[in-house]
Amino acid sequence: MADKCDVLILGAGAAGMMCAIRAGQRGRSVVVLDHAKAPGEKIRISGGGRCNFTNIHAGPRNYLSANPHFAKSALARYTPRDFIALVEKHRISWHEKTLGQLFCDDSAKDVIRMLLAEMQAVNAKLRLETSVSAVTHDGGRFRVSTSGGVIEAESLVVATGGKSIPKMGATGFAYQIAEQFGLKLIETRPGLVPLTLDPGLLEKLSPLAGVAVPAEVSHGKTSFEEALLFTHRGLSGPSILQISSYWREGDPIRLKLEPHRDLAAVLKQAKQKNGRQSAQTALSEILPKRLAQHVVEQSGLTGHLADMSDKALAKLAAEVQDWQIKPAGSEGYRTAEVTLGGVDTTGLDSRSMAAKSVPGLYFIGECVDVTGWLGGYNFQWAWASGQAAGEFA
Ligand code: FAD
Repeated sequence: MADKCDVLILGAGAAGMMCAIRAGQRGRSVVVLDHAKAPGEKIRISGGGRCNFTNIHAGPRNYLSANPHFAKSALARYTPRDFIALVEKHRISWHEKTLGQLFCDDSAKDVIRMLLAEMQAVNAKLRLETSVSAVTHDGGRFRVSTSGGVIEAESLVVATGGKSIPKMGATGFAYQIAEQFGLKLIETRPGLVPLTLDPGLLEKLSPLAGVAVPAEVSHGKTSFEEALLFTHRGLSGPSILQISSYWREGDPIRLKLEPHRDLAAVLKQAKQKNGRQSAQTALSEILPKRLAQHVVEQSGLTGHLADMSDKALAKLAAEVQDWQIKPAGSEGYRTAEVTLGGVDTTGLDSRSMAAKSVPGLYFIGECVDVTGWLGGYNFQWAWASGQAAGEFA
């Protein structure tokens, strides 16, 4: 005999647990199933173990999707303030780190404990280490065959996330279910991911591995101003992760290092004040030493500032502040924080996350073609879309 419930949720991640809480609060009997040993594993490792659980500025413009309007309804109905209220109800202390990013003071595990406590309060059941072998839909009910037996449910919520970090159990399962039920997919790509460089450029930049510098990184008209990190594989740091979600193979990106300093003016001033100084010494006042050394070596401008023309100094400044690079690729799903693309939103109702063509079927969280910027936006989407489906499922 099959177990029965009103709402079966596949995936005990951020979105799935949030959905379970809301559906349970409405008096629905809820089962959440996950193949992992523990719920919310990505929450646990997020934000360096402190979970950047939301962003106070979160709004539709912070998300990438083939339909930029899709996320509006869910985001407006469950806001960062709503999640902060939940966090405060559980006496989890938090702080704003930068740019509206909110983190736990203590540990990301506090957020998992909070979600589990809320699930328990509404009697939502959690079944871990349970895999799904088949899903069928018959007579208005879903039958899900699992390693723990068959479960029948009125509503099925797919919250199994994207493909990023397969080592942590990420699968393309949601996309499989979407296809099975005739929903369209938007091609998936790794997002918020370090970019790699071709071997020649990598060798040239190898002395810079480990150097971090404030930067404005642009792709076309999109730009982000945050730290940039040179690595042994290429480029990383928040500004690069942000632009990686917009970048496409073959495209160049532009780097403006130390974007708020007028380097040309700084070099000219240094020349006037102390012409016997080298360009490297003058640049080291502003840039990390290794970067200053690299730029000057590449330019060939050794010797005293007094012997260099203003034009040469302006050219040197431009090498730092107008740098065009063509990344060779990205580090892929292995290190990507999110998956771009996914279940096409044209097949979903934006208020409820329900599949328009299959009554009772819902898709929420990262598996949907809505991807946030770095900085707490992806969890806010998980909470908001989970809440939206929990309201209707
Ligand atoms: P997930 O959290 O991935 O949950 C999916 C669940 O489904 C998992 O528990 C998984 O085990 C389960 N599952 C998968 N396949 C199956 C299957 N076939 N059968 C059964 N169960 C299955 N975002 C932020 O906003 N702030 C951050 O600080 C942040 N830090 C991050 C750090 C890292 C290293 C990574 C990788 C991501 C980070 N993110 C962050 C992104 C964020 O973790 C995701 O956007 C979010 O977890 C998506 O929630 P979700 O519930 O849709 O999917």
